[in-house]
Formats: sequence, structure tokens, C-alpha cells
Amino acid sequence: MNVISSPDWVRLSFGADMVLGFSPGKFLKGALNTTINLLQYYPDGCKANCLYCGQAREVAKGADCKTLIRVDWPLRPLTQVLDRIKERQGDPEYGLQRICVGQLAHPRASPDAIEITRRIREEGIELQISELVTATYTFKNHMIEMRKAGADMIDVAIDAASKRVFDSVRGKPVRSMHNWDRYIKAIDEAVEVFGKKNAGIHLIIGLGETEEEAVNLMLYAHSRGAKISLFAFYPESSTPMEKKKPVPLNVYRRMQLSRWLIENDLVKPEDFVFENGVLKDINLPSDISVKELSPAFMTSGCPGCNRPYSNEKPGDRLKNIPWYPSESQTISALKATRLESVKRLIDNEIAK
Ligand code: SF4
Repeated sequence: MNVISSPDWVRLSFGADMVLGFSPGKFLKGALNTTINLLQYYPDGCKANCLYCGQAREVAKGADCKTLIRVDWPLRPLTQVLDRIKERQGDPEYGLQRICVGQLAHPRASPDAIEITRRIREEGIELQISELVTATYTFKNHMIEMRKAGADMIDVAIDAASKRVFDSVRGKPVRSMHNWDRYIKAIDEAVEVFGKKNAGIHLIIGLGETEEEAVNLMLYAHSRGAKISLFAFYPESSTPMEKKKPVPLNVYRRMQLSRWLIENDLVKPEDFVFENGVLKDINLPSDISVKELSPAFMTSGCPGCNRPYSNEKPGDRLKNIPWYPSESQTISALKATRLESVKRLIDNEIAK
């Protein structure tokens, strides 16, 4: 009997499903979806119980298709997915740049991610490949095999900004098995195996952390050579966090600006001013211009991963901007930070 499961079957993010022509439609405002996000599928579902996730054990109760980062994930045979990627790679109409192999928390997650990666390369697909891993089931030996199979980058989905938040939304207190120390160790393993800047973390803003905790984790990740992929919390229906509000725009804009400054080595820890955990101001470099800050508000992560509309509804203000922002978009995003130093920067440029 043929069992429907990874590595032979994968879920596709709804955007990737449209790009590959399985579902009809196009993104609003013509945003290209330049990464094909794959997610593993197992009939017995995810073994973890993260409170914010539609795949969580006590939410999904098996393999039923539930949403994740706001979108549906239709189930497709891997061979068909790879055939369509092959047809479309290199075609400017699609602009494909990367494939992301995403894991569930499952004992087969790593061997199957390695196998999926191997099959992508066997098909002659030349796009970059990222591995999005759960550190509970992915160890250094798996990372080495992922690299050998043809992956270029790796992100450790730590998601929470501090041990306090991690435990409260995905650790033992919520009947889940993830462990903060293991995730912290996996960041170093990922950097060792894939190299600085080819390894990173996923960080969700809005899970209950303070802004100070989020900035501190970003500073830590950067100091270890890891890049930072930011996500804005958006409540998934039928999860225990479905009634929690999406992260406010002003908070997210401050975290985006902080990430960009940290990753470009333009600030030091002492340049951040906090009051009761809230970021009150940043000591900006004196020669920075508004224009230079535009990329701070683009989707961050592996190059080419733009995840259009995965953090908000189309029509809402875009939190991760999936294209290079215009000057007016940049000014509006900067104003939303509500930081005094940023206001001064904008006023000075207008006065020139
Ligand atoms: S940033 Fe994008 S491509 Fe990279 S691991 Fe995360 S989801 Fe995958």
C-alpha cells in the first residue's frame, strides 16, 4: 500500500502552489513569490505542541490540513512539484530563486529533509536550497548530510526571543518537548556546518516577548554569525493563541529597523535605549540617510525568500514588504517606529 507521506509527498505554501500552477490566481499588486516553500507531511502529524501553530499536536489532532503562517498548505506529490519547478526555473515571469525544505517536529524530519534535498538536486534543479529545521530532531550530523545533499543555507526555527517565552509557548509547560538550550546549541552547529551568514534563526515578534528580549536575541545570533529572519505574529484560528492580537505595527517596525542595523554592524548593544523592556530610541549612525534604510522593511531571511502576505491579510499594511520599498513607503515605515532619532533624521532630510 502506498502511504501518503514525506519524502514522496510535501505540502506547498499557497503562494508556491499558485506559482507552480496547481492553484489558480496571482498575488495582489503583482508581488512575485520567489521562494518555493515546502513543508513535510506525516499522517501522524507534528509531535510538538507550540501554542501559536496550526500544526500543533493538540490543534491538528493528526495530519488534517491546518494553516501555518496564515496560509493553506495543499498536499502535492514531490515528483510533480519538482517537474514544475524545473519547467519554471530561469523564467523571468516567475523569478524563482530558492526552495525551502521545511520540517515538522517528527522523528523522520531530518532523514526526509535530506532525501527531499537529494531529489531536488537529482532532478537538475539549480535554485538555491534552504533547510528550515527544528533543532529537536536535527543535529550536527544531519546538517552535514543536508549540506552534502546540496543545501546552501539553513535556519533554526527558534521562533521565541527568550527562554521565558520559549518555554511558555513551545516548551514543557505547554506539553511540548522543545528545549531552549538545544535550540541555542543548534545555532552554533548550523553556523559551523554552513558557514557564517549561511545559517540563521527564525524569530517571531509578538509571542509575548519584550522588545529588549527580541533585540538581545538578535544581537546574540549576530554575534554567533547567524542571520535573522523576522516574522510578525499573526493569530492562527483554532490555536490557543487565536484571540491574541497580531503584533502592533510600531513594535514590528522598531524590530525590523533594529535587525537591519545589527546585521549591518551599524550599532552596538549600548546604542539601544530601553524603558521597561520597550525600545525607546536607537543611537543611529550620524551619516545614515532615509534612503539607505529602505531595505530594513523588506522581508528578511535567506536571499530571495520574500513570503508575500504571509504575515498579514492582503490589504493590511504590509509588515514584511516583499519588494524594494519606495521612498514614501520607507518614510511611512520609519515614522511608524515612533523613535525620536528617526523623526529627527526625517525632519533633517526634509529641511535640506
Ligand atoms: S528565510 Fe525563507 S528560505 Fe530561509 S529558512 Fe526561512 S522560510 Fe526558508
